[in-house]
Amino acid sequence: MKIDGGCHCGHIAYEAEVDPAKVLICHCTDCQTLSGSAFRTVAFTEPGTFKVRSGELKIYLKTAESGNKRQQSFCPECGTPIFSTSPDDAPDKVHSLRVGSIRQRDTLIPKRQSWVRSSQRWLGGMPSLPGSERG
Ligand SMILES: [Zn+2]
Ligand SMILES: [Zn+2]
Repeated sequence: MKIDGGCHCGHIAYEAEVDPAKVLICHCTDCQTLSGSAFRTVAFTEPGTFKVRSGELKIYLKTAESGNKRQQSFCPECGTPIFSTSPDDAPDKVHSLRVGSIRQRDTLIPKRQSWVRSSQRWLGGMPSLPGSERG
């Protein structure tokens, strides 16, 4: 599926192809911190299809407990997280796109969850919380 997206301030724009069957929710504590939210929703690109159309991303190299390194890329102007990927320059690498930055995000429905053991306990009760249509 062809998608496009960008950051909140408009500095970064990109396009890619993703597999809608592999959209994932990650509850790991790194995703909680790096997203500033309870969990992160990720869509994986088809290898080598991610292209930046405009802007230049800022990179933060994250080292996991295992020693594994991941490149976290975000807009240097507004901080919107855009993707993570391996720190090498392989032309066929996969980018883990942050679904909130994808214009077609309403059609990308999560199909599985990872790191459920660190998920926030209140998530299951969300449908019963009082809500308002706006604001
Ligand atoms: Zn921005
Ligand atoms: Zn995670």
